[in-house]
Amino acid sequence: MSEELDLENRITSASYTSLDEDIDTSLRPRNFEDYVGQDKIKENLKVYISAAKQRGESLDHVLLYGPPGLGKTTLAAIIASEMGVNFRVTSGPAIEKQGDLAAILTNLQQGDVLFIDEIHRLQRSVEEILYPAMEDSALDIIIGKGPAARSIRIDLPRFTLVGATTRAGQLSTPLRDRFGIVSRLELYTPEELMRIVVRSAGILGMTIDADGAHEIASRSRGTPRIANRLLRRVRDFAQVRGNGEIGRDDASYALDRLEIDRLGLDNTDRRMLSAIIDFYDGGPVGLDTLAATVGEEAVTIEDVYEPYLIQIGFIARTPRGRFATRAAYAHLGKKYPERKATVTEPTIFDNENKND
Ligand code: ADP
Repeated sequence: MSEELDLENRITSASYTSLDEDIDTSLRPRNFEDYVGQDKIKENLKVYISAAKQRGESLDHVLLYGPPGLGKTTLAAIIASEMGVNFRVTSGPAIEKQGDLAAILTNLQQGDVLFIDEIHRLQRSVEEILYPAMEDSALDIIIGKGPAARSIRIDLPRFTLVGATTRAGQLSTPLRDRFGIVSRLELYTPEELMRIVVRSAGILGMTIDADGAHEIASRSRGTPRIANRLLRRVRDFAQVRGNGEIGRDDASYALDRLEIDRLGLDNTDRRMLSAIIDFYDGGPVGLDTLAATVGEEAVTIEDVYEPYLIQIGFIARTPRGRFATRAAYAHLGKKYPERKATVTEPTIFDNENKND
């Protein structure tokens, strides 16, 4: 992989990029013990898995949702390995026709886990094939056209569908209802990310002290994929500067060079916040307008940038559009216009630093 590629890809993007190919395979936890955090989901899944195994059945269908890079694919693979079955991977956009999905389904073996990433992007016609497959382990195929058309039913092996999506709200109700287990993955705490960084450093043969790991963790936007990516960049800088063990200074030197600030915001985040503040007077600004202003796709803003900015209270999303909050003004060193507090800003964010 070239360094050029690295520059093209936004380093704090939570989405999977070519950057992650080689690290994902080695750093991806293979069992529940190595899978840090998401404790509630893990504990429940362990119960469901052992109950299904005791009954000699396949696991109920599972829907995992939450922002990219939080470990949905990893968890699906762990489910397959704990169940002792094959793990088959595909994604919503990759399945173009009903026939594509039919081919995948007929190739499954008893009990297999079929993982469909971005399941909200399945075409409706393809989705319809899934319903009887999920419910009755059957495939309904229409043969012929017009009045001569008839439907035949083929039995499929029992399988477990694990669907992953960044936007559960976009799933059709009939599809959503067919999942027996629905779990939302949460952003990780800095402590959890620290454990992930330390584990990954060990696998990559690096030594990093607790302060160094904490520095990376607190700038990783709650996302393991970003933590692992930042760790690799920190390693590059430390290696070139000739430092063996990585400490806080090495980590913060590298992250400063990458222009990732202490909250994990990069240039694009700051550009977006500045656009809301400088061009739209702090908001409200509609998603499409904002997307056009910063030159990004609206869906990218919604799925990748916004969740973290909303979580740290920098952006408020209202029916009238996006607002930059008082905290965002403060972070960018801009003066918060007091009149906004009464005119436009939702009261929930109007609680501190009244005299800014
Ligand atoms: P998603 O499918 O939600 O986009 P992935 O499962 O591909 O996310 O996770 C991205 C990377 O982050 C994985 O390759 C793995 O190295 C790391 N990762 C994710 N979740 C965890 C976790 N709970 N513990 C340790 N590492 C994790």
